[in-house]
Amino acid sequence: MDGPQFVDSHAHLTAKEFDGDREAVIARALDAGVARIVNPAVDLEDSRRAIELAEKHMCVYAAIGFHPHQASKANEILLAEIEEMSSHPKVVAIGEIGLDYYYDFAPKEVQQRVFEFQLGIARRKQLPVIIHTRESIDDTVRIVEDVTRGDEIWRKKSDIPRGVYHCFSGDWPMAQRVLADGFLISFPGIVTFKKPGFAIDVATRTPLEKLMLETDSPYLSPVPHRGTRNEPSRIPAIAARIAELKQVTLEKVSASTNAACEMIFERFRNGKGEEG
Ligand SMILES: [Zn+2]
Repeated sequence: MDGPQFVDSHAHLTAKEFDGDREAVIARALDAGVARIVNPAVDLEDSRRAIELAEKHMCVYAAIGFHPHQASKANEILLAEIEEMSSHPKVVAIGEIGLDYYYDFAPKEVQQRVFEFQLGIARRKQLPVIIHTRESIDDTVRIVEDVTRGDEIWRKKSDIPRGVYHCFSGDWPMAQRVLADGFLISFPGIVTFKKPGFAIDVATRTPLEKLMLETDSPYLSPVPHRGTRNEPSRIPAIAARIAELKQVTLEKVSASTNAACEMIFERFRNGKGEEG
């Protein structure tokens, strides 16, 4: 299609919210110029579903792993399955993984152990990570730094981002720290909200080449769709807001965020991502 193309680096297409019209949602995304969608998983079953969907649609890619909310369900056998499944050519990352102390669905120690283990999978498989953190940024960044610091395998690829902090909620000093650690940052529709927390400040100050686009569908719909189910076709609205904050054209946001995705998700380079 004509016009700028985008990547939605974080959309839960496998969520039950899309059971009624998943195919139509994907078709609308392609019509809107969203040429590639990364579907992060929340547990083993969802990881299988993400891979199945990615096999069915050229434009869909999978990230697999246990979300911190599901950390209590993880064990060594299931995590070994995640590791094995991550060799699949359409698995582009381990995610989403991290810590969530806001909901606190799993004990902190369990979340931390499962997070560390999955960072280990990413390291062994040389895959980037998609990180979720809520009310837990200090512990999250500390664990990431402990695992990656001085590590031969990560260091060899120091020019390639190690992952992304999705839906970043930290302040600018924390953003500077994760950027220095070799990570990218992404924001969903929060940048269009009236009360965006630190998101506007951080998005404005972060170099454009370190930003990726995401919807976090079905959650966090951008204005004016707030409160309704979100979907990847809303990426252009988020891109337009980033363009406004960075005072650049939409085409420039498209080119830069696509380049960031191609660099981080190495397996994007194996296929062109167009439907057909
Ligand atoms: Zn998510």
